[in-house]
Formats: sequence, structure tokens, C-alpha cells
Amino acid sequence: MTWLDPLSRAMHNQAGQHGPAMLMYHAVTPGAGTPSWPWAVSMQRFREQLDFLAAEGYATPTMGTLAARPAKAWGGRTAVITFDDGYVDNLAACEELQKRGMRATWFIVSGSIGREPAWPADGRPVGRLLNANELREMQAGGMEIGSHTVSHARLTELDDAAMMRELVESKTTLETLLGQPIGSFAYPYGAWDVRCAEAAQHAGYAAACTTRTGWVLRDGNPYQLRRLTVFNSDTLGSFARKLYFGSHDVRWRDIAAYAFRRLKRT
Ligand SMILES: [Zn+2]
Repeated sequence: MTWLDPLSRAMHNQAGQHGPAMLMYHAVTPGAGTPSWPWAVSMQRFREQLDFLAAEGYATPTMGTLAARPAKAWGGRTAVITFDDGYVDNLAACEELQKRGMRATWFIVSGSIGREPAWPADGRPVGRLLNANELREMQAGGMEIGSHTVSHARLTELDDAAMMRELVESKTTLETLLGQPIGSFAYPYGAWDVRCAEAAQHAGYAAACTTRTGWVLRDGNPYQLRRLTVFNSDTLGSFARKLYFGSHDVRWRDIAAYAFRRLKRT
């Protein structure tokens, strides 16, 4: 196991008192080090993070499983692992999960399956997205496939009809392709508001997740689930601190400010 600094270790020993967390990944690039895209993590770091979750006794249900049971049913050391967009390098990540008996949820853009993403590039790795056969195999291996719209649209900018099309068509396409109901959804760009959350419910999803930081069930609303972003630069220490604080703002500077506020209150 990779070295974990003593302070992060001490904090994480207290982790698991505030309910489940949900982690957000995108690309997992081969090799070690820090990928240039903030939303990618290297395979070496990803493996370390999974080993840490396993060693610390985390349950890793899919988002669908988490949402299907009452909040009280989940112990604190629960971490739902999610992947947005479905980059093809996620196949290797999926294998790593399977080796450890872990599950995860993938949010797929139904209009770009097996192809290069049709939405604007922002420094992400080049290459195609997961194809239908790959998604079927992942599903057969216990992974959950969810929807991430048809076109990776920013739902808050669409009128009601266009928004419903993105929600319903992606669900139907994936259901036809995979032969299973699609119950989980992730808002592209984390762009959502109350109108989007209601539309996701009307479209028949059981749950939807944002990119807001915090404990996953904090808002008590299955269409506003929160996630912790795992960034390219995260060390095992910052990863452990995210799970302790339920926040992805865990630079030491933020933590010092937090500790100072608490001191002043006592
Ligand atoms: Zn996305």
C-alpha cells in the first residue's frame, strides 16, 4: 500500500460517520503520474484508491442499489464509484474493479456510443467511447449502466420538450441496447436545477446525480445526489481526506480554514 501521510491517516480513521459518499471519475489513463486533463486519473493512482477502499472496508454498491434502499440501510463506509461519459480507457478500470469484487455505475451518452464524443473537446483524452458490446459485457459483470443524455447537453439551457427528449431518448436507446431498465442518470456538466430534477423523475429515472460536493444523500432527494470529484492531482492523502470530510475541497489550506472556524466556535 502506498504511503499515506499521518494526518490524513488520522483523519480517515474517523471516516464513515456521516453516511455514504459517491465518487466521480472520467478517464483513467494508462501508467502513473498526473494526467494533464483535470478529470483524468492515472491507472496507478486509480489502483491505489481502490486498494485503499478495499483495505478500509468500504462497500461499493452501484448508484442504483444505493438509491433503491433507505438511507439508513447504508453504513458510513460506503463509496459509490461512478464514471461519466464512458471513455474507452475505462475498460481497464472496470477490470480492476472486477478483480476486487467492486461495482460501479457508468453514465453513457447514447448519441456517441462506440464513437468519438460528439460534444466539444476540453482537453479530454482522444479516442472513442465504449461501444455496445463493451457496455453489455460490463453490465453482465455486475456494473450498472446509466444515462448521461443523448448529446451531452446542458439541460438547464434547453426548453422542456428538448430536455425531455434528451432524458427519454437516451433511456430508451440504452434500454434497447442492453435489455435492462435504466434507472440512474447524471446531469452533464453538473448543470441542473429543480426543473431538470423534476424532468428526470418524470422521464422515469429512479435517481440522478449532480457534481455538487457533499455526502451523497445529504439533500434527501434522489434526483439531487452529490458526488466527490476525484482529480488528476489527488494523492492518496487527499483522496482519504475527501472521504473523511465529504468534500472535494481538501487542500490543506481549506482544511486549516475549516479547523480555525471550528476552534472559534468552541
Ligand atoms: Zn459528462
